[in-house]
Amino acid sequence: MDDAPLPPFHEGTQLVRAGMNVPQNGASFQGGVVFASSFHFSGNPADSPYTYGRYHNPTWTAFEEALALLDGGACVLFGSGMAAVAAVFGALLDAGDTVLIPNDVYHATRRIAHEDLARQGITVRSCPTDTDAVIAQLDGVKLVWVESPTNPKLDVVDIRRLCTEAHARSVLVAVDNTTATAFLQKPLALGVDLVVASDTKALTGHGDLLLGHVAARDPELVEKIRGWRLRMGAIAGPMETWLAHRSLPTLDVRLERQCASAQRIAEYLQAHEAVEYVRYPGLVGDTSHAIAKTQMSAFGTIVSFVLRDAVTVDRFLGAAKLIANMTSFGAVHTSAERRKRWGGDDIPEGFVRMSIGVERYDDLLADIDAALAIAQRG
Ligand SMILES: *Cc1c(COP(=O)(O)O)cnc(C)c1O
Repeated sequence: MDDAPLPPFHEGTQLVRAGMNVPQNGASFQGGVVFASSFHFSGNPADSPYTYGRYHNPTWTAFEEALALLDGGACVLFGSGMAAVAAVFGALLDAGDTVLIPNDVYHATRRIAHEDLARQGITVRSCPTDTDAVIAQLDGVKLVWVESPTNPKLDVVDIRRLCTEAHARSVLVAVDNTTATAFLQKPLALGVDLVVASDTKALTGHGDLLLGHVAARDPELVEKIRGWRLRMGAIAGPMETWLAHRSLPTLDVRLERQCASAQRIAEYLQAHEAVEYVRYPGLVGDTSHAIAKTQMSAFGTIVSFVLRDAVTVDRFLGAAKLIANMTSFGAVHTSAERRKRWGGDDIPEGFVRMSIGVERYDDLLADIDAALAIAQRG
Protein backbone atom coordinates (compact mmCIF):
# COMPACT_ATOMS: atom_id res chain seq x y z
CA MET A 1 0.00 0.00 0.00
CA ASP A 2 1.35 3.42 -0.88
CA ASP A 3 0.24 6.78 0.41
CA ALA A 4 -1.29 8.00 -2.83
CA PRO A 5 -4.31 10.18 -2.03
CA LEU A 6 -7.65 8.43 -2.39
CA PRO A 7 -9.93 9.68 -5.13
CA PRO A 8 -12.58 11.94 -3.63
CA PHE A 9 -15.38 9.92 -2.08
CA HIS A 10 -18.82 10.08 -3.64
CA GLU A 11 -21.05 12.73 -2.13
CA GLY A 12 -23.42 10.03 -0.82
CA THR A 13 -20.50 8.57 1.13
CA GLN A 14 -19.35 11.95 2.40
CA LEU A 15 -22.87 12.72 3.62
CA VAL A 16 -22.76 9.77 6.00
CA ARG A 17 -20.30 11.72 8.19
CA ALA A 18 -20.76 15.30 7.03
CA GLY A 19 -20.87 17.81 9.87
CA MET A 20 -20.23 15.17 12.55
CA ASN A 21 -17.79 15.64 15.42
CA VAL A 22 -14.06 15.64 14.69
CA PRO A 23 -12.66 12.38 16.16
CA GLN A 24 -11.26 13.04 19.64
CA ASN A 25 -10.65 10.72 22.59
CA GLY A 26 -13.76 10.56 24.68
CA ALA A 27 -15.87 12.78 22.46
CA SER A 28 -19.15 11.39 21.16
CA PHE A 29 -19.17 10.16 17.58
CA GLN A 30 -22.40 12.01 16.87
CA GLY A 31 -22.65 15.64 17.90
CA GLY A 32 -25.55 15.99 20.31
CA VAL A 33 -28.27 18.60 20.18
CA VAL A 34 -27.47 21.91 21.92
CA PHE A 35 -30.40 23.68 23.53
CA ALA A 36 -29.33 27.17 24.49
CA SER A 37 -30.55 30.71 24.42
CA SER A 38 -27.33 32.06 25.97
CA PHE A 39 -23.67 31.00 25.85
CA HIS A 40 -20.88 31.99 28.26
CA PHE A 41 -18.68 34.70 26.87
CA SER A 42 -16.67 37.54 28.33
CA GLY A 43 -15.74 40.77 26.59
CA ASN A 44 -16.33 41.42 22.92
CA PRO A 45 -19.10 39.27 21.33
CA ALA A 46 -17.08 39.10 18.10
CA ASP A 47 -14.39 37.08 19.93
CA SER A 48 -16.79 34.30 20.94
CA PRO A 49 -18.04 31.66 18.47
CA TYR A 50 -21.41 31.54 20.24
CA THR A 51 -23.20 34.25 22.21
CA TYR A 52 -26.96 34.20 21.88
CA GLY A 53 -29.32 31.61 20.42
CA ARG A 54 -30.90 33.81 17.76
CA TYR A 55 -27.44 34.54 16.30
CA HIS A 56 -26.00 31.05 16.10
CA ASN A 57 -26.17 27.56 17.55
CA PRO A 58 -23.63 24.69 17.29
CA THR A 59 -26.37 22.29 16.13
CA TRP A 60 -27.12 24.64 13.22
CA THR A 61 -23.42 24.99 12.46
CA ALA A 62 -23.01 21.22 12.09
CA PHE A 63 -26.05 20.86 9.85
CA GLU A 64 -25.15 23.92 7.78
CA GLU A 65 -21.69 22.43 7.18
CA ALA A 66 -23.25 19.25 5.88
CA LEU A 67 -25.65 21.22 3.66
CA ALA A 68 -22.75 23.29 2.31
CA LEU A 69 -21.15 20.09 1.05
CA LEU A 70 -24.31 19.33 -0.92
CA ASP A 71 -25.02 22.81 -2.24
CA GLY A 72 -21.45 23.86 -2.96
CA GLY A 73 -21.83 27.17 -1.13
CA ALA A 74 -22.41 28.55 2.34
CA CYS A 75 -25.83 27.66 3.77
CA VAL A 76 -28.09 29.62 6.10
CA LEU A 77 -30.70 27.52 7.86
CA PHE A 78 -34.27 28.75 8.56
CA GLY A 79 -37.23 27.50 10.54
CA SER A 80 -39.21 26.64 7.37
CA GLY A 81 -38.94 26.75 3.61
CA MET A 82 -41.10 29.87 3.51
CA ALA A 83 -38.86 31.64 6.02
CA ALA A 84 -35.97 30.98 3.59
CA VAL A 85 -38.02 32.22 0.61
CA ALA A 86 -39.01 35.37 2.51
CA ALA A 87 -35.38 36.00 3.48
CA VAL A 88 -34.26 36.17 -0.15
CA PHE A 89 -36.98 38.66 -1.05
CA GLY A 90 -36.68 40.61 2.19
CA ALA A 91 -32.91 40.91 2.22
CA LEU A 92 -32.45 41.76 -1.47
CA LEU A 93 -35.44 43.76 -2.73
CA ASP A 94 -36.20 47.44 -2.14
CA ALA A 95 -39.19 49.58 -3.07
CA GLY A 96 -38.91 50.44 -6.77
CA ASP A 97 -37.20 47.13 -7.69
CA THR A 98 -38.76 44.66 -10.10
CA VAL A 99 -38.88 40.93 -9.39
CA LEU A 100 -39.79 38.29 -11.99
CA ILE A 101 -41.63 35.20 -10.73
CA PRO A 102 -43.33 32.60 -12.92
CA ASN A 103 -47.02 32.23 -12.15
CA ASP A 104 -46.81 28.48 -11.54
CA VAL A 105 -44.23 28.35 -8.74
CA TYR A 106 -45.15 27.28 -5.19
CA HIS A 107 -48.41 28.98 -4.21
CA ALA A 108 -47.16 30.59 -0.99
CA THR A 109 -44.16 32.09 -2.84
CA ARG A 110 -46.51 33.61 -5.41
CA ARG A 111 -48.65 35.01 -2.65
CA ILE A 112 -45.66 36.68 -0.97
CA ALA A 113 -44.84 38.28 -4.33
CA HIS A 114 -48.32 39.44 -5.25
CA GLU A 115 -49.59 40.34 -1.79
CA ASP A 116 -46.59 41.37 0.33
CA LEU A 117 -43.93 42.54 -2.12
CA ALA A 118 -46.46 44.44 -4.25
CA ARG A 119 -47.70 46.22 -1.09
CA GLN A 120 -44.13 47.28 -0.33
CA GLY A 121 -43.69 49.04 -3.67
CA ILE A 122 -41.89 46.21 -5.48
CA THR A 123 -43.06 45.56 -9.04
CA VAL A 124 -43.91 41.90 -9.65
CA ARG A 125 -43.70 40.54 -13.18
CA SER A 126 -44.86 37.05 -14.10
CA CYS A 127 -44.75 34.55 -16.94
CA PRO A 128 -44.99 30.74 -17.25
CA THR A 129 -42.15 28.43 -16.15
CA ASP A 130 -40.55 28.22 -19.57
CA THR A 131 -36.96 29.25 -20.26
CA ASP A 132 -37.72 31.45 -23.28
CA ALA A 133 -40.68 33.12 -21.57
CA VAL A 134 -38.57 33.93 -18.50
CA ILE A 135 -35.65 35.26 -20.55
CA ALA A 136 -38.00 37.48 -22.57
CA GLN A 137 -39.01 39.31 -19.37
CA LEU A 138 -35.54 39.88 -17.86
CA ASP A 139 -34.86 43.49 -18.87
CA GLY A 140 -35.06 45.89 -15.94
CA VAL A 141 -35.41 43.10 -13.36
CA LYS A 142 -33.37 43.01 -10.12
CA LEU A 143 -34.07 39.38 -9.20
CA VAL A 144 -35.52 36.48 -11.16
CA TRP A 145 -36.99 33.61 -9.16
CA VAL A 146 -37.61 30.20 -10.69
CA GLU A 147 -38.52 26.77 -9.39
CA SER A 148 -37.24 23.71 -11.24
CA PRO A 149 -38.91 21.26 -11.42
CA THR A 150 -42.04 23.14 -10.34
CA ASN A 151 -44.38 21.87 -7.67
CA PRO A 152 -46.80 20.35 -8.67
CA LYS A 153 -46.65 20.54 -12.47
CA LEU A 154 -42.98 19.49 -12.81
CA ASP A 155 -42.02 21.98 -15.50
CA VAL A 156 -38.32 22.83 -15.70
CA VAL A 157 -36.19 25.74 -16.82
CA ASP A 158 -32.77 25.55 -18.41
CA ILE A 159 -30.91 26.94 -15.41
CA ARG A 160 -27.55 27.38 -17.18
CA ARG A 161 -29.05 29.32 -20.06
CA LEU A 162 -31.19 31.46 -17.76
CA CYS A 163 -28.10 32.38 -15.70
CA THR A 164 -26.10 33.39 -18.77
CA GLU A 165 -28.92 35.62 -20.01
CA ALA A 166 -29.69 37.06 -16.58
CA HIS A 167 -26.09 37.82 -15.67
CA ALA A 168 -25.57 39.58 -19.03
CA ARG A 169 -28.27 41.99 -17.78
CA SER A 170 -26.95 42.14 -14.15
CA VAL A 171 -30.02 40.28 -12.90
CA LEU A 172 -29.67 38.07 -9.81
CA VAL A 173 -30.98 34.49 -10.18
CA ALA A 174 -32.61 32.53 -7.36
CA VAL A 175 -33.76 28.92 -7.77
CA ASP A 176 -36.17 27.06 -5.50
CA ASN A 177 -34.53 23.62 -5.49
CA THR A 178 -37.03 21.91 -3.17
CA THR A 179 -38.43 19.25 -5.49
CA ALA A 180 -35.00 18.10 -6.70
CA THR A 181 -32.89 18.66 -3.53
CA ALA A 182 -29.23 19.61 -3.80
CA PHE A 183 -28.42 15.91 -4.06
CA LEU A 184 -30.05 15.65 -7.50
CA GLN A 185 -29.48 19.15 -8.82
CA LYS A 186 -26.74 21.74 -8.11
CA PRO A 187 -28.04 25.17 -9.04
CA LEU A 188 -24.96 27.01 -7.71
CA ALA A 189 -22.74 24.96 -10.04
CA LEU A 190 -25.13 25.78 -12.90
CA GLY A 191 -24.51 29.47 -12.21
CA VAL A 192 -27.32 30.71 -9.94
CA ASP A 193 -26.67 33.29 -7.24
CA LEU A 194 -29.01 31.92 -4.59
CA VAL A 195 -30.55 28.51 -3.95
CA VAL A 196 -33.55 28.14 -1.71
CA ALA A 197 -35.03 24.89 -0.48
CA SER A 198 -37.73 23.64 1.81
CA ASP A 199 -35.90 20.95 3.76
CA THR A 200 -39.27 19.83 5.06
CA LYS A 201 -39.51 17.68 1.92
CA ALA A 202 -37.17 15.06 0.42
CA LEU A 203 -33.95 16.38 1.93
CA THR A 204 -34.98 15.37 5.45
CA GLY A 205 -37.60 12.96 4.15
CA HIS A 206 -39.49 11.78 7.22
CA GLY A 207 -42.50 14.08 7.22
CA ASP A 208 -41.91 15.07 10.83
CA LEU A 209 -40.43 18.58 10.74
CA LEU A 210 -40.26 21.90 8.88
CA LEU A 211 -36.97 23.55 7.89
CA GLY A 212 -35.52 25.49 4.98
CA HIS A 213 -32.26 26.99 3.85
CA VAL A 214 -30.64 29.46 1.49
CA ALA A 215 -27.27 28.71 -0.14
CA ALA A 216 -24.99 31.13 -1.96
CA ARG A 217 -21.33 31.47 -2.91
CA ASP A 218 -20.95 35.25 -2.80
CA PRO A 219 -20.02 36.08 0.83
CA GLU A 220 -21.87 39.40 0.60
CA LEU A 221 -25.11 37.65 -0.32
CA VAL A 222 -24.58 35.11 2.45
CA GLU A 223 -24.09 37.89 5.00
CA LYS A 224 -27.25 39.65 3.85
CA ILE A 225 -29.27 36.46 4.29
CA ARG A 226 -27.68 35.66 7.65
CA GLY A 227 -28.30 39.21 8.85
CA TRP A 228 -31.93 38.93 7.83
CA ARG A 229 -32.33 35.72 9.87
CA LEU A 230 -30.70 37.28 12.89
CA ARG A 231 -32.91 40.39 12.78
CA MET A 232 -36.20 38.70 11.84
CA GLY A 233 -35.70 35.72 14.12
CA ALA A 234 -36.83 33.17 11.51
CA ILE A 235 -34.61 30.56 13.16
CA ALA A 236 -34.71 26.77 13.29
CA GLY A 237 -35.21 24.88 16.54
CA PRO A 238 -32.12 22.86 17.59
CA MET A 239 -34.15 19.64 17.95
CA GLU A 240 -35.54 19.86 14.40
CA THR A 241 -32.08 20.69 13.13
CA TRP A 242 -30.56 17.68 14.84
CA LEU A 243 -33.30 15.39 13.50
CA ALA A 244 -32.70 16.79 10.03
CA HIS A 245 -28.98 16.15 10.31
CA ARG A 246 -29.71 12.60 11.43
CA SER A 247 -31.57 12.00 8.16
CA LEU A 248 -28.73 13.06 5.85
CA PRO A 249 -26.70 9.82 5.94
CA THR A 250 -29.66 8.03 4.32
CA LEU A 251 -30.36 10.68 1.67
CA ASP A 252 -28.51 8.81 -1.08
CA VAL A 253 -30.15 5.49 -0.19
CA ARG A 254 -33.62 7.00 0.11
CA LEU A 255 -33.44 8.91 -3.16
CA GLU A 256 -31.99 5.96 -5.03
CA ARG A 257 -34.99 3.83 -4.07
CA GLN A 258 -37.56 6.61 -4.37
CA CYS A 259 -36.43 7.90 -7.78
CA ALA A 260 -36.13 4.40 -9.25
CA SER A 261 -39.65 3.52 -8.10
CA ALA A 262 -41.01 6.89 -9.27
CA GLN A 263 -39.62 6.28 -12.76
CA ARG A 264 -41.21 2.84 -13.01
CA ILE A 265 -44.52 4.02 -11.59
CA ALA A 266 -44.61 6.96 -14.01
CA GLU A 267 -44.09 4.53 -16.89
CA TYR A 268 -46.81 2.23 -15.54
CA LEU A 269 -49.26 5.13 -15.15
CA GLN A 270 -48.52 6.42 -18.62
CA ALA A 271 -49.68 3.12 -20.06
CA HIS A 272 -52.84 2.94 -17.91
CA GLU A 273 -56.17 3.68 -19.60
CA ALA A 274 -57.61 5.46 -16.53
CA VAL A 275 -54.81 8.03 -16.59
CA GLU A 276 -55.30 11.05 -18.86
CA TYR A 277 -51.67 12.15 -18.69
CA VAL A 278 -48.57 11.83 -16.50
CA ARG A 279 -45.86 14.39 -15.69
CA TYR A 280 -42.47 13.06 -14.63
CA PRO A 281 -39.21 14.60 -15.86
CA GLY A 282 -37.74 11.11 -16.22
CA LEU A 283 -40.26 10.08 -18.90
CA VAL A 284 -38.54 10.24 -22.27
CA GLY A 285 -41.57 11.88 -23.89
CA ASP A 286 -42.11 14.47 -21.12
CA THR A 287 -41.69 18.12 -22.14
CA SER A 288 -39.27 18.54 -19.19
CA HIS A 289 -37.06 15.56 -20.03
CA ALA A 290 -34.54 17.06 -22.47
CA ILE A 291 -33.51 19.87 -20.11
CA ALA A 292 -33.93 17.87 -16.90
CA LYS A 293 -31.42 15.23 -18.02
CA THR A 294 -28.76 17.90 -18.58
CA GLN A 295 -29.07 19.36 -15.08
CA MET A 296 -30.45 16.64 -12.78
CA SER A 297 -28.72 13.40 -11.79
CA ALA A 298 -32.09 11.70 -11.21
CA PHE A 299 -35.65 12.93 -11.66
CA GLY A 300 -37.09 13.12 -8.18
CA THR A 301 -39.75 11.55 -6.02
CA ILE A 302 -42.89 13.25 -7.37
CA VAL A 303 -45.09 11.81 -10.10
CA SER A 304 -48.04 13.99 -11.13
CA PHE A 305 -50.93 12.56 -13.12
CA VAL A 306 -54.52 13.26 -14.02
CA LEU A 307 -57.57 11.04 -13.49
CA ARG A 308 -61.01 11.76 -14.95
CA ASP A 309 -62.39 13.90 -12.13
CA ALA A 310 -62.35 14.63 -8.39
CA VAL A 311 -64.59 11.68 -7.53
CA THR A 312 -62.30 9.24 -9.33
CA VAL A 313 -59.29 10.58 -7.43
CA ASP A 314 -61.12 10.30 -4.11
CA ARG A 315 -62.01 6.68 -4.90
CA PHE A 316 -58.40 5.95 -5.89
CA LEU A 317 -56.94 7.44 -2.72
CA GLY A 318 -59.67 5.84 -0.59
CA ALA A 319 -58.88 2.39 -1.99
CA ALA A 320 -55.07 2.56 -1.80
CA LYS A 321 -53.52 1.05 1.33
CA LEU A 322 -49.96 2.32 0.91
CA ILE A 323 -50.72 5.88 -0.21
CA ALA A 324 -51.44 8.34 2.58
CA ASN A 325 -53.91 11.03 1.53
CA MET A 326 -51.95 14.05 2.71
CA THR A 327 -50.05 17.05 1.52
CA SER A 328 -46.28 17.53 1.22
CA PHE A 329 -43.87 15.17 -0.53
CA GLY A 330 -40.43 13.60 -0.49
CA ALA A 331 -40.93 11.50 2.64
CA VAL A 332 -40.19 7.81 3.14
CA HIS A 333 -43.93 7.10 3.16
CA THR A 334 -45.74 7.23 -0.16
CA SER A 335 -48.41 9.91 -0.16
CA ALA A 336 -50.64 11.70 -2.63
CA GLU A 337 -53.33 14.30 -2.81
CA ARG A 338 -55.82 15.78 -5.20
CA ARG A 339 -53.94 19.00 -5.54
CA LYS A 340 -56.89 21.12 -6.65
CA ARG A 341 -58.47 20.74 -3.20
CA TRP A 342 -56.29 23.70 -2.21
CA GLY A 343 -57.52 25.85 -5.12
CA GLY A 344 -54.84 28.15 -6.48
CA ASP A 345 -52.93 26.18 -9.09
CA ASP A 346 -54.06 26.13 -12.71
CA ILE A 347 -54.56 22.34 -12.93
CA PRO A 348 -57.47 19.96 -13.66
CA GLU A 349 -59.78 18.77 -10.85
CA GLY A 350 -58.42 15.23 -11.27
CA PHE A 351 -54.75 16.25 -10.87
CA VAL A 352 -52.90 14.00 -8.42
CA ARG A 353 -49.49 14.81 -6.99
CA MET A 354 -48.04 11.54 -5.76
CA SER A 355 -44.84 11.30 -3.77
CA ILE A 356 -43.10 7.95 -3.95
CA GLY A 357 -41.64 6.58 -0.72
CA VAL A 358 -39.21 3.80 0.11
CA GLU A 359 -41.70 0.91 0.18
CA ARG A 360 -40.88 -2.05 -2.03
CA TYR A 361 -41.72 -1.25 -5.66
CA ASP A 362 -43.72 -4.45 -6.22
CA ASP A 363 -45.95 -3.70 -3.24
CA LEU A 364 -46.53 -0.13 -4.33
CA LEU A 365 -47.31 -1.14 -7.87
CA ALA A 366 -49.78 -3.81 -6.75
CA ASP A 367 -51.50 -1.32 -4.45
CA ILE A 368 -51.72 1.40 -7.11
CA ASP A 369 -52.96 -1.07 -9.69
CA ALA A 370 -55.71 -2.39 -7.41
CA ALA A 371 -56.76 1.12 -6.34
CA LEU A 372 -56.95 2.33 -9.95
CA ALA A 373 -59.14 -0.63 -10.87
CA ILE A 374 -61.54 0.25 -8.03
CA ALA A 375 -61.47 3.96 -8.95
CA GLN A 376 -62.24 3.12 -12.57
CA ARG A 377 -65.11 0.74 -11.80
CA GLY A 378 -66.86 3.48 -9.86
C1 LIG B 1 -43.09 23.20 0.55
C2 LIG B 1 -42.44 24.15 -0.39
C3 LIG B 1 -42.03 25.42 0.04
C4 LIG B 1 -42.30 25.92 1.44
O1 LIG B 1 -41.64 25.20 2.41
P1 LIG B 1 -42.17 25.02 3.95
O2 LIG B 1 -41.10 24.20 4.54
O3 LIG B 1 -43.52 24.36 3.87
O4 LIG B 1 -42.28 26.39 4.52
C5 LIG B 1 -41.39 26.24 -0.87
N1 LIG B 1 -41.16 25.84 -2.15
C6 LIG B 1 -41.57 24.63 -2.59
C7 LIG B 1 -41.30 24.24 -4.00
C8 LIG B 1 -42.22 23.75 -1.73
O5 LIG B 1 -42.63 22.57 -2.18
